[in-house]
Amino acid sequence: MPDELQTSEITLYSILIFLVLENLINLYLTRRQIYVYETSKDVPAELKDAMKKETFEKARLYGLDKANFGIFKLLLCDIAIVSIELYTGFIALIWARAVQITQQFGLNIESEIQVSIVFLLLINIIGTFKDLPFKIYATFVLEEKHGFNKQTAGFFIKDQIKSFLVGQVLSIPIVSAIIYIVQIGGDYFFIWLWAFMGVVSLLLITIYPVYIAPLFDKFRPLEDGDLKKSIEDLAASLKFPLGKLFVVEGSKRSAHSNAYFTGLFGAKRIVLFDTLLLNKGLPDDSTLAEDEKGKGCEDKEVLAVLAHELGHWKLGHIRKNIIIMQVQMFLIFIVFSQLFKYSPLYQAVGFPENVQPILIGFLVIAMYILAPYNTLISFAMTILSRRFEYQADEFANELGFSNELGEALIKLNIDNLGFPVYDWMYSSWNHSHPTLLQRLERLKALQKKKR
Ligand SMILES: [Zn+2]
Repeated sequence: MPDELQTSEITLYSILIFLVLENLINLYLTRRQIYVYETSKDVPAELKDAMKKETFEKARLYGLDKANFGIFKLLLCDIAIVSIELYTGFIALIWARAVQITQQFGLNIESEIQVSIVFLLLINIIGTFKDLPFKIYATFVLEEKHGFNKQTAGFFIKDQIKSFLVGQVLSIPIVSAIIYIVQIGGDYFFIWLWAFMGVVSLLLITIYPVYIAPLFDKFRPLEDGDLKKSIEDLAASLKFPLGKLFVVEGSKRSAHSNAYFTGLFGAKRIVLFDTLLLNKGLPDDSTLAEDEKGKGCEDKEVLAVLAHELGHWKLGHIRKNIIIMQVQMFLIFIVFSQLFKYSPLYQAVGFPENVQPILIGFLVIAMYILAPYNTLISFAMTILSRRFEYQADEFANELGFSNELGEALIKLNIDNLGFPVYDWMYSSWNHSHPTLLQRLERLKALQKKKR
């Protein structure tokens, strides 16, 4: 049918054009930020006291290296390789190979679920190896050069294998169930699919911190003492259902610092990265490297960071994000249910007529057909996320933490060698958090208003 062939070609070219266009925007914005790195020579006035000229210069070079690596990766992976794969019908080739392998292992090639599982394994193995050189370079060259890499080769390899296995253990049953639901769900399968995925995602959010995160990182309870006492007091004053308090040895993986809390229902746990804390009270204090000394925050600053995090909880940001995610998923499933029988979508990525695997349809629709929509939504979510960050800062300010929060933000930024100057366009497209200077300025304004 020449008509349909044409439709599939138009589909393919539209996908390709949008893909390239989106990446050209990213490229342009990163170039703008590189110009900022290249031309900023002075510490911004607001940070004159806190940031040494020498640290500023280090951060500038670190940022520049990361941005250049980002551009290289974007051109090679996101534009060249993806375009070639799409154009040559790579996905269809892998599918054909999956059918062969299914047969070789004596499995049933008539079972779409079995072939899909083999396909999923193949595509994930290929994806892992495709990513590997970039990960190795980023960890052992880029981060190493700037003093952030704490991983040994052994740790890195183990970590990669573990995350591959965990990924498969989680995704295989979920994907199988999705296919099964589409097969038996009737005309309104998207409602069942949505209900299923809703339960699965809530389940994952619940089990992740308790069963999965400990597979990758070491958690220890926060030792008794002033910090623990004051965190408990702060939580109690806000009626935050605090369960356990943990410190995660984030420094094994990398030295970038953070704090978060987890748990949807009932008691929640707060997790502090050890890099957030001043290097005291650690079990192996004596082995501390010279460049680690003096990093981290004072107790009051840690408390201010937590006040911000608790603000996210009190203001219902997590709940709002989950609701948005569920609505999103519902919309995607409706679009999928309307389009997945349309054969040009499959032919566009190289499938012969009448071969229309559900998993492929889902990937093509969710990733490619909806790409413009995804881009818009992700931009809107970035804007929303920045608004939430300001609100959480405001919450910390109301609890009287604005000075300490400002101090903590500056310290964390310096510990992470964050560069304080950003191109506004680059920043509004990419940053889920307002920049350091924006947050400091807002905190200052809030304080003035208070007085
Ligand atoms: Zn936040």
